[in-house]
Amino acid sequence: MTFTLPDLPFETDALEPFMDKETVEIHHTKHHAGYTTKLNAALEAEGINDVNLETEIFPQIMQMPRAIQTNAGQFWNHSFFWESLAPTGQEPSESVMNKLTESFGGYDGFVSEFTEKAGGVFGSGWAWLCKKQDGSLCVVQTLNHLNPLMDSFTKEHGVMTPLLVIDVWEHAYYLKYQNRRPEFIAAFLKIVNWEKVEQRLG
Ligand code: MN
Repeated sequence: MTFTLPDLPFETDALEPFMDKETVEIHHTKHHAGYTTKLNAALEAEGINDVNLETEIFPQIMQMPRAIQTNAGQFWNHSFFWESLAPTGQEPSESVMNKLTESFGGYDGFVSEFTEKAGGVFGSGWAWLCKKQDGSLCVVQTLNHLNPLMDSFTKEHGVMTPLLVIDVWEHAYYLKYQNRRPEFIAAFLKIVNWEKVEQRLG
């Protein structure tokens, strides 16, 4: 089995003005597509077919060849990222808001924590809202291609369920925001797919 680039769950201009059409197009058709092609090539080189990234690759990512580690991470992280986004207007449901309040003291507390963690990623990486095994929520950072499902993460931080992710690689925002990552993070928070977060909460 080979992986295919998922279609965006919205039109490329649907996230304007928070995320511009050109950035979305390039991010999807160049960056994400590139990781998809390289992932398929890396799996083929190892003779691996019909594999599930979440259950078969990430839990033993450290034993995989480097090309699989990086491209499997980037393929999956980007798919998760697009699904984390929706055209403006969504707000957390009451049940999601209750979870945010339990863990962060309220929506503003979540925004503050998420902004700090996403802004604090040094270099390229991601910030994730996750559910811990005790049911509480937290925000964690991963560098480069890494994600919370990988054994390299779970060995250090424990098992978590990712709910939401922001890509803070420069390619995610540089065309519109240049070096102003905090503005990009604030814009991202206007286009969160809170319905998807609720589904992921289970
Ligand atoms: Mn990206």
